[in-house]
Amino acid sequence: MPDPIPPRLQRVTVLGATGSIGMSTLDVLARHPDRFEAFALTAQVQVERLFELCLRFSPRFAVLVDSAAASDLRQRLKAAGSATEVLAGAAALVEVAAHPDADAVMAAIVGAAGLAPALAAARAGKRVLLANKEALVLSGRLFMQAVAASGAQLLPIDSEHNAVFQALPQGYGRDPKRCGVRRILLTASGGPFRERSLESLADVTPDEACAHPNWVMGRKISVDSATMMNKGLEVIEAHWLFAVPPDAIEVVVHPQSVIHSMVEYADGSVLAQLGNPDMRTPIAHALAYPERIDAGVRPLDLFEIGRLNFERPDFVRFPCLALAYDALREGGAAAAVLNAANEEAVAAFLERRVGFTRIPDIIAATLERVRDLSVDCIEAILDADARAREVARSEILARQTTP
Ligand code: NAD
Ligand code: MG
Repeated sequence: MPDPIPPRLQRVTVLGATGSIGMSTLDVLARHPDRFEAFALTAQVQVERLFELCLRFSPRFAVLVDSAAASDLRQRLKAAGSATEVLAGAAALVEVAAHPDADAVMAAIVGAAGLAPALAAARAGKRVLLANKEALVLSGRLFMQAVAASGAQLLPIDSEHNAVFQALPQGYGRDPKRCGVRRILLTASGGPFRERSLESLADVTPDEACAHPNWVMGRKISVDSATMMNKGLEVIEAHWLFAVPPDAIEVVVHPQSVIHSMVEYADGSVLAQLGNPDMRTPIAHALAYPERIDAGVRPLDLFEIGRLNFERPDFVRFPCLALAYDALREGGAAAAVLNAANEEAVAAFLERRVGFTRIPDIIAATLERVRDLSVDCIEAILDADARAREVARSEILARQTTP
């Protein structure tokens, strides 16, 4: 008998390859060269890191949004004898996300900038590994419609949503009633400021806000975790992914970050997914689904952990969480406006232009001023995003601490 033909390697595009999720994805790919190969790697401007990744993974394409950075990378790769083709600009992100030769796309660009390529991958019917939660917050309805129309396979990477996905039955079909799903319980660590005195929050520095107790992440999502806007965005993300109403999504503060989320069923069962807080678990789960592969993650030692604690979220300490629930209930463009104002406010905080406790004020003021916009097509969503950013910047200026 001739040898069986080995299955073809899965070609993976990694959008945001130089970031925290991107690097964890490449770590998992590197453990399984018999299954996966990097097809395209993208970044915004990080020439040095992308150069090293190209030499190590030999992707067919490398994309840098910044064109000067792309020329630099092209020259350096040529000198190093690499065959990787370098593309430049935001349109090239869409091109490698929807490329006919790509099988799976890891959407790990941070913020609204990741929407267009993630949506392109969904429209092209790829296996979409979605880390970029902002894409769903902005365009949940359109995104899910694109997935349904193309037959794309959408697998959540956010650890909570990946946990929920694992705790739902196969063939869930976004139908909670039929499957007896009563509630989704999203766990939250509570971030670095869960117990800090309320008065001192106004003075926290960007580095303090980015020092998360359990996870190492990019700076934007780290600040979101400190304000708990991250959990608010995740409530909205869960609504779109799993078709559950806002009232059936409960946030449970669980400081150990061992239970990554839970599903409560009509019969009283609550199913949870547990593991050490390491994003390589959801990444490996989604890459190999429905199979299981080694992710390089340390096994969970329950005896070492000892106990698991749970608390109700504090909506006074974390007004961003309440703002996100309100925006989801309001519908329309509110979530897109919330997201845009949050991105602008967090960037201003990281640049030390506004204090930490100004972040929810800026978002609330922007939501007040930007109302009744349409979100029925991608152009309208991007217009709402742009309008909200303009208003948020004026609200930031009004609160700026330094000239
Ligand atoms: P990061 O800041 O570490 O990396 C972001 C990546 O996106 C980089 O490769 C950067 O070059 C690229 N990028 C940034 N701006 C861009 C732009 N305008 N155009 C094109 N590329 C751009 O971020 P991260 O922590 O890896 O998070 C990525 C996404 O995954 C976010 O949406 C975040 O909410 C989500 N997520 C992250 C984690 C985590 O543990 N880090 C967990 C859950 C979800
Ligand atoms: Mg998460």
